[in-house]
Amino acid sequence: MKHRFGSVVFLLCLIMSLHCSKEPDLVDAELRIYLERFSEEAAVRGIEVDYKTEPVEARIELHERDVQLGWCNYDFETQNMITINNLFWPILNDFEKEKLVFHELGHCVLYRTHLDEQDQAGLCKSIMHSGQACADNYSVNTRERYLDELFLR
Ligand SMILES: [Zn+2]
Repeated sequence: MKHRFGSVVFLLCLIMSLHCSKEPDLVDAELRIYLERFSEEAAVRGIEVDYKTEPVEARIELHERDVQLGWCNYDFETQNMITINNLFWPILNDFEKEKLVFHELGHCVLYRTHLDEQDQAGLCKSIMHSGQACADNYSVNTRERYLDELFLR
């Protein structure tokens, strides 16, 4: 009997410790792959992005009255948060989604501001552009160059 009681206590402790150590889900499932890619691309360039030490919240929310694709909110008391507007998210392809999430993480993780510098063809040199002055041509052919600019500038 004593033995069984011990097992029950042990089991309860195990359940409670599992329950208590479970971290809150800061990142919406659909965005997880893009946050992972962001830290991988940073690591390739020698930059550490560790969401454990510097958590970022990432949400997809519907903001019907907002024409913005996404934004970053700074919060030094909890964690920075990127919001992706679900008004546009479903119609973006994988490249556009990656560029959008990387842009917002550029603000929220790398603390970059907007950059509207253009090349000779008039294209934005950075995916950190404001969307007001120029357009980029982020594609399979230009991705490396844009990501070098994003992380290494
Ligand atoms: Zn921006």
